[in-house]
Amino acid sequence: MEKKKKITAVVPCYNEEDVIGLFYEEMCRVAKQMEAQAEFEILFVNDGSSDHTLEKMRELREKDSRVCFVSFSRNFGKEAAMYAGLEHATGDFVAVIDADLQHPPALLVEMFEAVTREGYDSAAAQRVSRTGEPKIRSFVSRSFYRVLAKLSQIEVVEGEVDYRLMSRAMVNAVLQMSERNRFTKGIFSWVGFRTKWIPYENVERAAGQTKWSMWKLLKYSLEGIIGYSTAPLALVSLIGVLFCICAFFAILYIVIKTLIWGDPIGGWPSLACMILGVSGIQLFCMGILGQYLGKTYLEVKNRPIYVASDVETNEEKEGQGRN
Ligand code: UDP
Ligand code: MG
Repeated sequence: MEKKKKITAVVPCYNEEDVIGLFYEEMCRVAKQMEAQAEFEILFVNDGSSDHTLEKMRELREKDSRVCFVSFSRNFGKEAAMYAGLEHATGDFVAVIDADLQHPPALLVEMFEAVTREGYDSAAAQRVSRTGEPKIRSFVSRSFYRVLAKLSQIEVVEGEVDYRLMSRAMVNAVLQMSERNRFTKGIFSWVGFRTKWIPYENVERAAGQTKWSMWKLLKYSLEGIIGYSTAPLALVSLIGVLFCICAFFAILYIVIKTLIWGDPIGGWPSLACMILGVSGIQLFCMGILGQYLGKTYLEVKNRPIYVASDVETNEEKEGQGRN
């Protein structure tokens, strides 16, 4: 009989004390169901929670050695939490999954089937409904992914969520992308690999509250576009060219009008408006350049993606920051 494969479930948690227990029970049920084919490791990443999430993780680890955790020194964001999880995962396959049970752990059975028997490198969940989500939010997020697909080579599938099972090869590829401005959906698409999409109905949070405000989502979207596309820079050049053409025709018009009719254009209001308009566009373009420069600056500093204050895995026991 072939050796049992190990699946590591990476679970980013930020103030999830209400759901972490429920999540663990659900995972145990799935682990039992898949007992014959795979063994599990549940790797929680405490993303600087201010509630009792870490204590809950410790309790779970005491009673079950399959539970491990990495705890951050402060909140570094879900992207950093996923990276830390992938880095410490020891499984042959690694799943990333939310703690709030919005990503049904039961899907892991089908995902595992896809990567072990159907020849896929990864199996990802695709949300086919958005019940329970405000309409405006669905609209904004849908438009964003459409724009992103147009501007870059990054294909984010409609309804893609951060819930997928990956082979070791894909995990290693993702780990190689150690950029600071992380946009994981883009990274998954960029590294390639054959992915099976598994549809599921949206589930509402089991307990607790979403950590994403509209503002955070907007920042995340900009991160995606600036991180994967240089199209805004091309847009800046295009605007410059358009303005030069306009200026050329305006000058031509004024020269001809003055020469033929001897009628100099009068009035400073038109001039003032033009100066205002053009300097506005210039500032806007400088802003775009500044965004790219700012991102470059942060990357060049080469800071660690996260700082761990406590790591308890079955491989190592340490308490140091990792990059
Ligand atoms: N999360 C995190 N760090 C953060 C924000 C969120 O680790 O700064 C985790 C959170 O605990 C949850 C997952 O990311 O497991 C998804 O977050 P949430 O449910 O708030 O987002 P939503 O499902 O509403 O998009
Ligand atoms: Mg959620």
